[in-house]
Amino acid sequence: GSPLNPLYTFDNFIVGGSNEFAYRAAIMASKKPGIVYNPLFIHGGVGLGKTHLMHAVGNVLKDYGKEVIYTSVENFLNDFSRYLRIGEMEQFKNKYRKCDLLLIDDVQFLSGKVKVQEEFFHTFEALKNENRQIIITSDQHPKKIKGIEKRLISRFEWGLVADIQSPELETKLEIIKKKCEINRVSFSNDIIQYIATIIENNTREIEGIITKLNAYSQLMGIEVDLEFARSVMKNQIEEKKTEITIDSILELVAKELNVKQSEMRSNNRTVPVVHARRIAIYLSRTLTPNSMPQLASYFGLKDHTAVSHTMKKIKDMMENDDDFKLKIDEMINKISNI
Ligand code: ADP
Ligand code: MG
Repeated sequence: GSPLNPLYTFDNFIVGGSNEFAYRAAIMASKKPGIVYNPLFIHGGVGLGKTHLMHAVGNVLKDYGKEVIYTSVENFLNDFSRYLRIGEMEQFKNKYRKCDLLLIDDVQFLSGKVKVQEEFFHTFEALKNENRQIIITSDQHPKKIKGIEKRLISRFEWGLVADIQSPELETKLEIIKKKCEINRVSFSNDIIQYIATIIENNTREIEGIITKLNAYSQLMGIEVDLEFARSVMKNQIEEKKTEITIDSILELVAKELNVKQSEMRSNNRTVPVVHARRIAIYLSRTLTPNSMPQLASYFGLKDHTAVSHTMKKIKDMMENDDDFKLKIDEMINKISNI
């Protein structure tokens, strides 16, 4: 497992209509672990507070001296492989099946990983049978997760499924204020409003923005006003856009789909290469400022209509194929986090 973030507490969690149900469920799980909602399954989009809430439960139980494990799917898989390799599966079982609270974050990444699913299933059964609390998060409702075996999906729904929606403006403003308070900075209301519009729904960006504004203000010795915030944030937004290049997209798509970068830029018409090229074009158009003619020339296409045709094709596929959409979303995630 990984450590719990001590700042992800219930006290630091702003409750609003968008997250109240999940919040109450989490409070309940911290008061009566293993008894009322087991598992507690929390789902919702990126940056809406799922990890925060699950850590909050963890922090409460840890303070009571309970054994708490927080892990990502990847971490669980690594641990599993490691213990398997050294022939110490008993130790693995002791660790994951004897804790009082198991927190599995972003369970959608179990998708397609048959072997880990199998192991997780047995872990789940062992914990559940002994009334040890399990909390799971995911970006989607269990029913919508693809590539996970039915018996696991059905167990995800055994306890309570709670979702978190995008925060209302009011909640968003409170979250920003709370983050300012934790970071010991204070900004005027217009700046807090401005930050709220910049972050849209992903509260994950707040901390970075606060740090940056604060650093600028201290290093330059100026009071942060709205004008100043705007100029700093403008950099921030532009930096983010320029970070993603067609080259980095090409590299990632080639790796993910196991084709050569050079093939994607050539006139190779084999099915896998055409598919990979289309995805790369779609991502480049979506995530970089390049125009359609620019993309056409980069990928060796006749003209911009070939690019717009590709865009339509990929959008259609995403609409009709949830697995495909998931795959694209995953890639966007990876590219955005480089
Ligand atoms: P998720 O796991 O859903 O992607 P996180 O739990 O990582 O989101 O939250 C992203 C950031 O936003 C964290 O810094 C978290 O503390 C903060 N955050 C999200 N929702 C709230 C909330 N309701 N109150 C306070 N902070 C929040
Ligand atoms: Mg998370």
